Amino acid sequence: MIPPIASRFVAGESPATALEHVRQLNDRDVKAILNLLGEHYDDRDAVAADAAEYRQLVDDIARSRLEACISVKPTQLGLDIGEEVFREELAAIVDVAADRGVFVWIDMEDHTTTDATLDAFETVAREHEGGVGVCVQANLRRTRADVRRLADVPGKVRFVKGAYAPPADVAYTDGARIDQEYRALLEYAFAHFDGGIAVGSHDPAVIEHAKALHERYGTDFELQLLMGVREDAQATLAAEYEVWQYVPYGRRWTSYFYRRLTERTDTLRFALRAVLTG
Ligand code: FAD
Repeated sequence: MIPPIASRFVAGESPATALEHVRQLNDRDVKAILNLLGEHYDDRDAVAADAAEYRQLVDDIARSRLEACISVKPTQLGLDIGEEVFREELAAIVDVAADRGVFVWIDMEDHTTTDATLDAFETVAREHEGGVGVCVQANLRRTRADVRRLADVPGKVRFVKGAYAPPADVAYTDGARIDQEYRALLEYAFAHFDGGIAVGSHDPAVIEHAKALHERYGTDFELQLLMGVREDAQATLAAEYEVWQYVPYGRRWTSYFYRRLTERTDTLRFALRAVLTG
């Protein structure tokens, strides 16, 4: 069972608890991106099990008529075992999702996976126009070129600053430089994209920038934030903009929770307070 301090960030261990969380979000006009926690599998059975759970989840989402989609990780779908395993499992999920009218996001993992992720995205996005999206990371030096390539692919793009710590020869490591890059990427996307832009950030300055670009170019966009982070802002923003909450769930929640806990001191303070006050 998930302890109460972790349940701020993780919607339980089962699809049922996650879907109940989505129901409550939808009541507040926030949509949901469901992510079954799991990554870096080297066991084909683990890959097959998560892929099967995603196909069932897509079915459950469609049947329940919830405003929800899914987001998958390449190494959860077998990229560490082989690119063909990842492509095969991704294609099978996207086929079912397209049939049920459920959108599929592909998360971006560390920089060694970028080529395989973008190539697989391009294949499925061309086969299922409007049904698939991919994440790109502003901290990678290559991303400007990647985004130019993606402008011609019929799918959505989620822009994030980057959760991994790539080496300096492939990435910007200074926070201000990453912010500058993020702003430049958004400028390009709002000016050139028509497939859909997702702003995956909690940063108030980034969100204001996106709103201003929307005013200037008239391009549609959506805001995406993580479960448990700036939840009040999510509800406020949802009154005016399309807001999606990224909702992780599943039994493999410990490392995800640890990442959330250590990325900011106020989150760590929140956890300590919860422990101390019982
Ligand atoms: P930061 O640069 O961390 O912070 C900027 C400001 O935002 C802060 O000063 C504060 O005002 C506000 N803020 C940030 N965090 C908090 C908080 N916890 N509480 C209160 N205020 C806060 N990364 C990947 O590499 N690949 C992915 O596929 C991926 N998918 C993502 C999907 C979603 C929906 C989101 C929201 C993020 C995703 N990320 C992903 C993570 C992303 O790369 C960043 O690591 C993460 O979002 C932190 O950057 P930030 O832009 O939110 O703000």
